[in-house]
Amino acid sequence: MGVFLQLSKSQSRSTSAGSPGGDNHTPDVFDVGPAAPAGPLPRAGAGDASHGLHGLLERGATILAPLLFAPALLLSYQRLSQAEAGWLAVPGVLLGLAFGDFVTGLVHWAADTYCGEDTPVIGRGLVRPFRVHHVRPLEICDHGLVETVGNTCILAAPLLALFLALAAYGETSPASAFAVFTAIMTVGVTVATNQFHKWAHQENPPPLARALQRAGIILSPEHHREHHAAPFESSYAITNGWLNPLLNRTGFFRRLEGALRAVGVKPYREERAAGSGK
Ligand SMILES: [Zn+2]
Ligand SMILES: [Zn+2]
Repeated sequence: MGVFLQLSKSQSRSTSAGSPGGDNHTPDVFDVGPAAPAGPLPRAGAGDASHGLHGLLERGATILAPLLFAPALLLSYQRLSQAEAGWLAVPGVLLGLAFGDFVTGLVHWAADTYCGEDTPVIGRGLVRPFRVHHVRPLEICDHGLVETVGNTCILAAPLLALFLALAAYGETSPASAFAVFTAIMTVGVTVATNQFHKWAHQENPPPLARALQRAGIILSPEHHREHHAAPFESSYAITNGWLNPLLNRTGFFRRLEGALRAVGVKPYREERAAGSGK
């Protein structure tokens, strides 16, 4: 699922997860340009999307997504209640938070590991912002709401429209109502993850955000710092990091890379190394 991060503005300030101790610069590992980015980096490119048609889409989707999410969630809860299974909303919320964590981890890992900024379609909008974020982790703090969640909302809005229709006209069995409720939560959580990630880098996030961080419901700066340590190859999940201990311990992403390598898909840095060695 799509472009999670709009990480582009070049400015440093004190943060939590982006603290000096965690801000390891490894431009040779994460390709953000041909030379080591000693000075300010140019905008990562994703922010450029705020102009023209894409900008309109971002702004429209940022308004539309919550307008679809709220009734979809309420209707699907109503379906659960009609099936006398309203209590399933609790595991539905928890599963949505866990699935969102997995989805964001998967996309984050893929963007950190594969392709380059020159890759068509996703290079500038997805790959580069993620990698610039390793070098300039604090830029995210400057992003407004549309820049933070707009692109993800573009992808989420059609899904939410579909789930709204399912919630309104679909089956009322407990299983199907639970599946729709959980799917809506997952999409909502995935969209919100950009904001959770931003809060994890802010020195002074809103009090409610800090409380949710302390409760472990959303990504805490302390946890996210694990990812912001070279070589940036652990703790990819950024909704709340619930799955990171399991994914780290089992070497999930290294195994996935191994499986992809076996079918000829190599991490970008290996592709580059092979290319420069010729
Ligand atoms: Zn990363
Ligand atoms: Zn970060």
